[in-house]
Amino acid sequence: KTRLTINGLKAVIEGKEILKGFDLEIKGGEIHAVMGPNGTGKSTLASALMGHPKYEVTSGNVTLNGEDLLEMDVDERARAGLFLAMQYPSEIAGVTNSDFLRSAVNARREEGDEISLIKFIRQMESQMKTLEMNPEFMHRYLNEGFSGGEKKRNEILQMMMLEPKIAILDEIDSGLDIDALRIVAEGVNALRHEDRGFLIITHYQRLLNYIKPDFVHVMMQGRIVKSGGPELAERLEAEGYEWVKAELGIED
Ligand code: ADP
Ligand code: MG
Ligand code: MG
Repeated sequence: KTRLTINGLKAVIEGKEILKGFDLEIKGGEIHAVMGPNGTGKSTLASALMGHPKYEVTSGNVTLNGEDLLEMDVDERARAGLFLAMQYPSEIAGVTNSDFLRSAVNARREEGDEISLIKFIRQMESQMKTLEMNPEFMHRYLNEGFSGGEKKRNEILQMMMLEPKIAILDEIDSGLDIDALRIVAEGVNALRHEDRGFLIITHYQRLLNYIKPDFVHVMMQGRIVKSGGPELAERLEAEGYEWVKAELGIED
């Protein structure tokens, strides 16, 4: 059964410590929301978990089903079932969306067990329909000229095709209008599974009206400072973050 365990994670970027002892455990079937003000290290957490080379982990440990994630390179992490929908998905000129996605799907599978082209296209078409994406996006270069909302839908399409064990969604709601938000949320909800865990990073409570989290965590200054249920997200929406700082004696 899926279990991601993050213990005392510290990470540095360009000499500056951003993650300062981050702890969290996510089990299959659970949805965890991490909320926090801008600049507290939410995206840094996502990147450090995926193994982005810019972020240097200086201490702590992370395991996925008992295996040491920090020892794995980026490809191995993906193969182990970790997935990140990025806050700012990158554009890759010259690589079509479908080519990119098919390599990603095959990289996730055992060697010699590659998905057939026909099966891949059929799956991709069906998932794009669910996400109400125009089929032409299959042949467009990855994210090139996509609007903010189209990029986010495309990230969800990747998640649907890759069927991860742990999915990290970094501000998937930013730049989405209300219809796109609903479609994206439906995509996520359709993937809820007893053996799949979600880490939903968001600045706003709005998304959590559509994707009901089991746990809500407040992140400040590189670590979780407070945890609760969905009611915590509602209070943050109504009152902002100042009361958390006051309660915990945190200064900017
Ligand atoms: P959040 O996602 O919570 O808004 P980030 O993780 O993006 O926060 O950023 C946390 C801090 O790390 C910020 O002070 C930011 O400026 C810094 N930071 C993040 N990425 C980089 C980078 N590539 N180079 C330099 N500083 C960075
Ligand atoms: Mg930010
Ligand atoms: Mg961010």
